[in-house]
Amino acid sequence: MNKRILFIILILFSNVYADKDLIQDDYIKLTPEEAIFLKNTKINVITSNTWAPINMYNDSEELSGIAIDFWNLIKSRAEINSTITTSKDWNDVLTKIKNKDADITLGTSFDKNKLAYAKFSTPYISFPIAFATLFDKRFIPDASFLQGQKVAVGENYSSHIILKNEYPTIDFITVKNTHDALKLLSAGEVDAVIDILPVVAHLISKNGYSNLKISGTSKNNIEISFMVRNDYPELIQIINRHISLLTPDDKNKIIREWLTVKFDKRIIDKHMMINIIIIIIALFIFYFFRQRSANIHNEQLEFISNTDALTGLKNRRKIDKILNKIKNKKFSLILMDIDHFKLINDDFGHLIGDEVLKDIAHLLKYNVNQNDIIGRWGGEEFLIICKNTSISEAEKLSYRIKDLIENHDFKVKKITASFGISEANNNLVLKDILSNADRALYKAKENGRNQVVLSVTN
Ligand code: GH3
Ligand code: MG
Ligand code: MG
Repeated sequence: MNKRILFIILILFSNVYADKDLIQDDYIKLTPEEAIFLKNTKINVITSNTWAPINMYNDSEELSGIAIDFWNLIKSRAEINSTITTSKDWNDVLTKIKNKDADITLGTSFDKNKLAYAKFSTPYISFPIAFATLFDKRFIPDASFLQGQKVAVGENYSSHIILKNEYPTIDFITVKNTHDALKLLSAGEVDAVIDILPVVAHLISKNGYSNLKISGTSKNNIEISFMVRNDYPELIQIINRHISLLTPDDKNKIIREWLTVKFDKRIIDKHMMINIIIIIIALFIFYFFRQRSANIHNEQLEFISNTDALTGLKNRRKIDKILNKIKNKKFSLILMDIDHFKLINDDFGHLIGDEVLKDIAHLLKYNVNQNDIIGRWGGEEFLIICKNTSISEAEKLSYRIKDLIENHDFKVKKITASFGISEANNNLVLKDILSNADRALYKAKENGRNQVVLSVTN
């Protein structure tokens, strides 16, 4: 009966978002450095097993949990070769990463104090902090209500670090893990226990603490990331790319599983309804979370589809969109094309060619004027949109860039570029302004390259 209720709830909450085809081959493609790194490196994963259901041992003593599931998903999509070891103690996990005896741990949240030895991935999931109390206590609207109270928490757990900084007057009783914290709470020795929502819900339910409940959650979410030793930037890049491609459905499949597990194993007793209420609240929160995460995900998709993967500049699609939206007819266009770029590929190889393109993009990004928009227009062609800029101002900028490129040390050889500039006016449609720049560029090439040519209209 109760299982059926839960099942119906789950059906209601699933299927809100249809699956999209998210395969972005180019985006997943590894850089040469990343490919070499993956090929040559076996990743040593270390995790604790004391943070159920984030990381834990299941009934058959196998490592499992939300963080483990996310890792397995990303690891298989990214084809990462790895081994995993378990440590009973979170501080030991930190020490191993610090000493580079291990390379990555799976479920933790950003802490700037760890940046000396570790890097954090983009968060792959986030949860609010839950406040557990005895059953007869009142609703706790936010963490400020815990000030002056005795709150048990796993030492150095993310919730501890965050609330300790924000509310120094909370009287924290630090214990080994959240399970121990709940024991204290159930015995009436502390006023509250904190940890992220799924952890508290899982432990209360699994251990049948019928005198405990979740009395509220924090306003801010704790974001869960992977933490990687700081000299493995390739690993972070690869993981981040796969995190940004996780769909809401990927996330829900994992979380849903961890919310239902406890019901499959529970003996139904008179406190079942209490647990159901906890789960319903949790599901509501997840539902809202999911909407937020879908928004974030759409933003990420939007970003990917508007960005050139090699240079990080806006791609042609985005530049077209921007050009078509410009209302004010005062602007100039600079079309820039690298001279004899084919020779760089021929002489040094395509990969070096790519590096040169990245260098050029970097030079442009940091040297145009504030309102200018740069896009990768074609292979080795870049378009700069200079809003509210006359052709003579655009000319000055072009000379500045021409000079920068000419004098930049590209490590391979001296590189130059040619520039064609056009100006918008009320008599011209976009197509004409673009073709004027193109024609000017052609002249610059014809006249011997490494020069700036202005389009003369009329
Ligand atoms: P010009 O001075 O007349 O512009 O000579 P060019 O060699 O630069 O011009 P061309 O159009 O003949 O060749 C452009 C080359 O740019 C050919 C193409 O292989 C290369 N290219 C285009 N996109 C990329 C890229 O993403 N990476 C690399 N490495 N090369 C690229
Ligand atoms: Mg070209
Ligand atoms: Mg060229």
